[in-house]
Amino acid sequence: MICFGLMAAISLTLLGRSMNASYDAIERRDLTASMERVLQSIESDLHHLNTLTRDWTVWTEMYDHASQPNPAWAKENIGFNAMEPANLSLMMIYGAHGQLISMTTFDKQGGELQLPTLQASPYPALFKTAARKSRCGLMKTDAGLMLTCWARITRSDSSGNFVGTVVTGRLLDQSLKLQLREQTRLPFDLHASRNLPPGLTLWSGMLSPGALGTGDFSTSHDSSAYHLYYRLQDLLQHDAGLITLDMPREVHQQGERLYRQVQQQLVWTALIMAILLAVAVHFLFVQRLRKFTNQLVELTEKTAWDRRIDIKGTDELGILSSKVNMLLRINESKIKILKELTLTDTLTGLPNRRAFDARLALEFSRERRNGRPLSMLMLDVDYFKLYNDHYGHPAGDIALKAVAAVLELSLCRSADFVARIGGEEFAILLPETDLDGARKMADRIRMQLQESSIPHADSRTAAHLTASVGIAVAGNETPDAFVSRADRALYAAKRDGRDCAYCDEREAALPER
Ligand code: GH3
Ligand code: MG
Ligand code: MG
Repeated sequence: MICFGLMAAISLTLLGRSMNASYDAIERRDLTASMERVLQSIESDLHHLNTLTRDWTVWTEMYDHASQPNPAWAKENIGFNAMEPANLSLMMIYGAHGQLISMTTFDKQGGELQLPTLQASPYPALFKTAARKSRCGLMKTDAGLMLTCWARITRSDSSGNFVGTVVTGRLLDQSLKLQLREQTRLPFDLHASRNLPPGLTLWSGMLSPGALGTGDFSTSHDSSAYHLYYRLQDLLQHDAGLITLDMPREVHQQGERLYRQVQQQLVWTALIMAILLAVAVHFLFVQRLRKFTNQLVELTEKTAWDRRIDIKGTDELGILSSKVNMLLRINESKIKILKELTLTDTLTGLPNRRAFDARLALEFSRERRNGRPLSMLMLDVDYFKLYNDHYGHPAGDIALKAVAAVLELSLCRSADFVARIGGEEFAILLPETDLDGARKMADRIRMQLQESSIPHADSRTAAHLTASVGIAVAGNETPDAFVSRADRALYAAKRDGRDCAYCDEREAALPER
């Protein structure tokens, strides 16, 4: 989950950064293109004014007026009627010696435009020069920024001496601004007395230089709008104010919306993926691994080697579980063999002393539970040392195997249990058998032994192998005490001549020969 969260956060941050950089570039490009349009529009107005000015200056009658001022002609030809259709706010005529011949100003209502400081400003020095070509630019006046052009007066055929210049001006007033805004469809503004806001970087010459400025501008932006400030210069290359253009950050806002959508989708996708992955990992791996571990821990703690791990599947865990099961099977069979070896007498194949003790404990507790009698026969081959001495040890082994076979055959019930508990000593457990039954069993064994007639030349009891038997019936005692009583009965049988079965001294003796 944490991994997914981190991945989503990193990719979102990177995406946001690259998107923001792209939006900034797009918006700045749009903004500079818009400012170009504004400048072109103002410059085209200036160009129009220049054409108009030149029309005035290449007029023989104007030439004559400049040479010899004619107020009547002037009143008729360069008054409000002539200026108003051309949207002119100012017309000045200077003579060859720089003397002001006439200055006509109009506001929109046809009244006089007040420009009290104009003649004292540095601009007239420019107008008075015998400029070969016309020049245009901005002029800061008392009434505001003014588009200005001036040109040398000549006759219609371009002949004649320098007699003066004509200066025209078009005030960049509210109506002209509105007109330009309509043309460009851009919400720019012009400020004659405004300087660049502090702290902004000036982008020098990024826009085409022209009559309005060198192309320098600055930008700033906030979350909702981009602002561009174009530095205006007047005819004297002094700061003349600013053109400001504010554009809403539509691309950025649209991008932000898109980014938020992508962000939400990414977060949801990452969340759902993480949950699905966690669930899948839990059910496909964690849960099964936990089950596997628990089962393995339990079976090893309980040494239950017959149990198996119950994890199915063809994946790594399934394969691991089947391999562990294979090892458990091998382990189980080895342990079974080992158990059999530890509980079996190697010579006769009968259960050994250890197996006898375990069975005795089991039968003893069973007898305690169900209250049925439990009897034991303790059997010892008579004069077996002499047998070995006479026939040799290997033959003694064979004889012991034969005795074991006789004993096994003599047992009547499946619950009866015979074990070799010593060299030539055997014990028989007879569950649910009382003293009478035990005696009968002892007789039967001795009879079978007699019938098998294993020759024993040196025996002092018979010409064949005989055995003495001690009988005991379990009482209120420990298993050890029970065995001791059977032993004592056997000892009594030996003492009393062998080849007989004796009961424990607490029971009535059975003097049988
Ligand atoms: P008793 O009638 O008093 O029992 O006399 P015994 O000779 O049978 O008793 P004793 O305890 O003196 O001798 C037991 C003999 O059993 C001694 C030993 O050599 C022999 N024996 C014990 N285990 C084996 C065996 O595995 N193979 C053979 N061949 N002989 C064994
Ligand atoms: Mg013995
Ligand atoms: Mg013996």
